[in-house]
Amino acid sequence: MEVAPGVISVGQRRGGQVHAYVFEVGRSLTLIDTLFDTDASAILNCLRRLGRAVSDIDSIVLTHGHRSHLGGAALLKTLSGAKVYSHEWEADIVSGDRKAQAVSLKPIRPFRTYPFQAGLGLGLGRHPACPVDDLLKEGDSVGPLQVLHTPGHTPGHLAFLWPERRVLVAGDAIATWPYFSAGWPGLNLNKAQHRSSLHRMASLGPEVIGVGHGDPITAGGTERIHELLERPTSGEGR
Ligand SMILES: [Zn+2]
Ligand SMILES: [Zn+2]
Repeated sequence: MEVAPGVISVGQRRGGQVHAYVFEVGRSLTLIDTLFDTDASAILNCLRRLGRAVSDIDSIVLTHGHRSHLGGAALLKTLSGAKVYSHEWEADIVSGDRKAQAVSLKPIRPFRTYPFQAGLGLGLGRHPACPVDDLLKEGDSVGPLQVLHTPGHTPGHLAFLWPERRVLVAGDAIATWPYFSAGWPGLNLNKAQHRSSLHRMASLGPEVIGVGHGDPITAGGTERIHELLERPTSGEGR
């Protein structure tokens, strides 16, 4: 699905309606996140539909080191020869040298996300280890994208902005599945940081927002973030 000119979203049911994003600038492709499945089939099919080769991917950038987003990373890196990027704090999780930080097992709404919360709480769910080639920090750029350090969900969580198109990929800072919320509260590590990251993202005035779980927001993105910030619990429950 093309959510804006040159921005394609690709999702799968497994991993919690997880979504990845392909950015096209000329012949060059930048991929944000890699979905759940380790065979990367949904992304490879998407490239086929676009009439593009996997070797057209120059960069694979990762919002953070959670299992649902890392499944296809190792295979796609091998097939494409692309460089893999993440924030420093997430890199050793992506490379398989450290487990993702555990969360509490106390069930927190929405309960449809509890299998993911429990998995993280128990340290289950390995992805194929994928070496990270380069680290990203606030102010860097990759392809057409500006890198935003947006901690809260995880300490090294990144979001990406294509300023000319007013497209933001918010990763797991915002979710639209199972309903619209400020990410999945049971998996957000630091509430205060998460809230300031939402403020920061709203201040950039995005129109279109790609989220980690659920369909992208195709219009009125900034207003939608304000809606979350106005909820008493930063849009966590409902
Ligand atoms: Zn996550
Ligand atoms: Zn996620």
